[in-house]
Amino acid sequence: MKKKDNEKQFDVTVIGGGLTGKLMVTLLIKSNIFKKNKLCWINTEKKISKDKRVSFINFKNFFKLENDYKINFLTNHYLKINKIQIHNTDEIKPLCLEDEVGHGVVIRNDILKSSLIVSEDDLTVYKSKVISTSYDEFLRYLILENGMKINTSLVLSADGNLSPVRNMSNINFIDHDLDHTIISGYLNTNNFDSNTAKQIFLKDSFIGLLPVSKTVVNFVWSLDNQTLNKKVNFEYYDEISERLNSFFSKYNVNFNQTELQNKKLQIYPINIKYVQNPFKKRLALIGDSAHSIHPLAGQGFNLSIEDCFHMMDCIRNATKIGKDFGEISVLTEYSKLTRSRTNFITFITTILFYVFKKKNNFVNKMINVGLKNIEKTSLKGIFKILARGY
Ligand SMILES: Cc1cc2nc3c(=O)[nH]c(=O)nc-3n(C[C@H](O)[C@H](O)[C@H](O)COP(=O)(O)OP(=O)(O)OC[C@H]3O[C@@H](n4cnc5c(N)ncnc54)[C@H](O)[C@@H]3O)c2cc1C
Repeated sequence: MKKKDNEKQFDVTVIGGGLTGKLMVTLLIKSNIFKKNKLCWINTEKKISKDKRVSFINFKNFFKLENDYKINFLTNHYLKINKIQIHNTDEIKPLCLEDEVGHGVVIRNDILKSSLIVSEDDLTVYKSKVISTSYDEFLRYLILENGMKINTSLVLSADGNLSPVRNMSNINFIDHDLDHTIISGYLNTNNFDSNTAKQIFLKDSFIGLLPVSKTVVNFVWSLDNQTLNKKVNFEYYDEISERLNSFFSKYNVNFNQTELQNKKLQIYPINIKYVQNPFKKRLALIGDSAHSIHPLAGQGFNLSIEDCFHMMDCIRNATKIGKDFGEISVLTEYSKLTRSRTNFITFITTILFYVFKKKNNFVNKMINVGLKNIEKTSLKGIFKILARGY
């Protein structure tokens, strides 16, 4: 039957123009498995990325992106992290994780995105949202807001934490509200080692600090909603500077507000989403649509990178033996490959969130005794696995 003008057929369609969607598209193009006219990308994002957040990419994933997938990162675009320090209220000294090879790198999300070079000649791009989906034995169908109908053997959906596609296709998930708000932005600093990342656990909040230069740090501040809601006009910069300056006064490190261009804050509610089986017929979830975790260990995008690597392995193995890569057995294999790391990271970050969301001095004292002992035991390895990725 002749296809209508508003109907097109592809092998693989990627949904989402965030970090995961763009990475997946880049890897698919670089693999040369599919003809250009058989790849489709549904990307409603603007050309210039406004994502001013910063990501920590662990060493293993960074190495694989550079060496196996030949993604070129300029050395002045990232900072290497060799040391991670975990600080706690009333500590004697921080738990210090050093790694000669390096735990990983810190890179700005907009720079990371522009290092993934995708040309519109490499595939077909649609700039309209997916509004519904259905399937039969051979194809998945996507209807876009502009009336286009996409018929495709496999959909890889990187449509984020709220994932409309996950809802449209009835994929079950657990949604848990942590009653914290995430605030991300930049601060000026002095005496902050630009190869060290820090996680600070305070009484009402946690602060992750990633260096972006010798004098600027990016912060990810996870703040208890009860504290946030107590004040009518909550002055984020004053409040975070006050907390950090009081905590770091004994270390002679200072923080204050940055110049205007870096002042805009990004503020989100934080919900954990756990998806046990991130697939349905001819559809797999990748990135935040497949797992949303607390950012305290900087591992959310790392899990997404691993989703893309595993999906590429599954597609490559299937096509090598002439198997239909959209078949359910291929998607089951993808789910098996991603499950253990996703479960481990979701479990550990959630446990750490609740352990450190302590409310009284006794619990805090016990945590400090615990952290001191971890310094001498193999438990330190868990923090290293978290940071480095293996
Ligand atoms: C403050 C903060 C700091 C973080 N720091 C780190 C870190 O240091 N290291 C780390 O590894 N991770 C970190 N993370 C996690 C990381 O940022 C995310 O995991 C990652 O950005 C998720 O990218 P994504 O592409 O999966 O989703 P998103 O960025 O949410 O992208 C979703 C895309 O889908 C599109 N979309 C949605 N609905 C539709 C539709 N119906 N049709 C078509 N398109 C649609 C959207 O327009 C968007 O382009 C952090 C997260 C936060 C909140």
